[in-house]
Amino acid sequence: MTVRTALPARPGTVYLIGAGPGDPSLLTLRAAQLLGEADVIVYDNLVSTEILAMLARPDVEKIYAGKERGKHALPQEELNVLLVRLAQQSKRVLRLKGGDPYTFGRGGEEVETLVEHGIPFEVVPGITAAAGVAAYAGIPLTHRNYAQACVFVTGHLKDGTMNLDWPGLARRRQTVVIYMGLHGLPVLCEKLIEHGLPPEWPAAIVQQGTTPRQRTVTGTLATLPGLAAAAHLQAPTLIIVGEVVKLHDKLNWHPEAH
Ligand code: SAH
Repeated sequence: MTVRTALPARPGTVYLIGAGPGDPSLLTLRAAQLLGEADVIVYDNLVSTEILAMLARPDVEKIYAGKERGKHALPQEELNVLLVRLAQQSKRVLRLKGGDPYTFGRGGEEVETLVEHGIPFEVVPGITAAAGVAAYAGIPLTHRNYAQACVFVTGHLKDGTMNLDWPGLARRRQTVVIYMGLHGLPVLCEKLIEHGLPPEWPAAIVQQGTTPRQRTVTGTLATLPGLAAAAHLQAPTLIIVGEVVKLHDKLNWHPEAH
């Protein structure tokens, strides 16, 4: 694919690129163009293999940077230094991340290291999981009748708990999207109820959104942890809490896996 107005990739530059949530057709034109021009691609496990197979040059060097839960293939510091080293070898370096590189992707840290070493870079935004998954699951993140605000948080468990602003999250007329929250789902639901949301407040969890493996499980704060456990969901999963979840039954359009 050629994008006529776009500048070609330059040697010695790092391109920090969002690959979107899974469906390869959600890639931006800029990302697709740069993928075809890169000398080396450093990618995370969230980047769909179809994207690499379809768009990367067959002879491109591919480096897997990991990022599966609990299994960091490369520590972040080493990864930051690796990007600098590859650029110093005058390569066109593509750093490809799932979703958007500046949304829970540690893209900021990688670019900080590049700046410290005087390496030229460009950042190409991607469709973040919240936007992509919500669209494919038929759950608008905001809606005049249900939610005027939307908050994105990470649901990492640390020592069995989550350090989040619970009073800020347990608000009505707001949608909360939780990344990396599957293991903490019971704690999350319990805390939101404890801070004032009703147990029957709608909540959903979506497995591998935008892909052929997409599965959406809907319930309430009281029922979702049990329903999710029974469904044996596969990562990555995204949790959406709020009244907008009620629209899923009416607005879903993407085929679901069973
Ligand atoms: N930078 C990425 C997020 C990285 S954090 C972005 O902007 O989307 C990784 C988390 O993103 C996963 O644990 C999961 O919660 C979420 N995620 C990414 N892709 C997803 C998908 N296709 N379906 C559901 N959740 C997804």
